Amino acid sequence: MNAVKYEGDIKDTVDAYNALNKNSQSGNYWDKTDAGIPEVKKHIKDHYKKVQEHTCVYCQQKIVVEHAMAWDIEHIIPKTPYPQFLFTEENLAVSCKDCNLIKFDKNVLKNPKRKRFPKKSEDYIISHPHYDEYDEHIHIIADKLYRPKDAKGEKTIEVCGLLRFAYKYTDYGETNEDIEITKQIVKLGKELISASNATETAFIIDCLKDLKDFREKKSRDIYLKSLLK
Ligand SMILES: [Zn+2]
Repeated sequence: MNAVKYEGDIKDTVDAYNALNKNSQSGNYWDKTDAGIPEVKKHIKDHYKKVQEHTCVYCQQKIVVEHAMAWDIEHIIPKTPYPQFLFTEENLAVSCKDCNLIKFDKNVLKNPKRKRFPKKSEDYIISHPHYDEYDEHIHIIADKLYRPKDAKGEKTIEVCGLLRFAYKYTDYGETNEDIEITKQIVKLGKELISASNATETAFIIDCLKDLKDFREKKSRDIYLKSLLK
């Protein structure tokens, strides 16, 4: 992924922050409404929304919304405990609101005492948006189920709360739920054909069973309700 670049006034603002002494740098600086900060943030957000094609770096869900409020600038190493990396180009990305909120200040570093910016994949315990290939660590099944391929994948799923998508299978309270369930069953069927190993196959079959049970229970509920009318 191409990192953001700073030029002109934007660069001056960032340089001014980086020149501050350690005690004056703080995560709160990010919330300033003057000193050129809002412009820097807009520049960062516009850049990453574009290069990421409106896709969250952690859950990979695509959010095709231009409105700035739909997106959060994500500090991969969190900004409150590590204000020195507030504007570090490769510490930034955009994420969905949910991933950003759940990830919050959680540690992502192999060595949390690092002073200088860690620039290698192996310095991080999660899949890094700049230094890792997402697909090498996590396989997303039917847009909702996150299967870790290794320790980094496992940690990313934990830190960003990616299991929240799986819970949606059992939480269809919205309209058009039958259509949604049918769509999911079709998708899972396709995934089943291309499953790469026995664990994955068993996992997909379990999901299909859950959906089938849910649909049957729902049909039963509708039937019972119709009798009461
Ligand atoms: Zn996300």
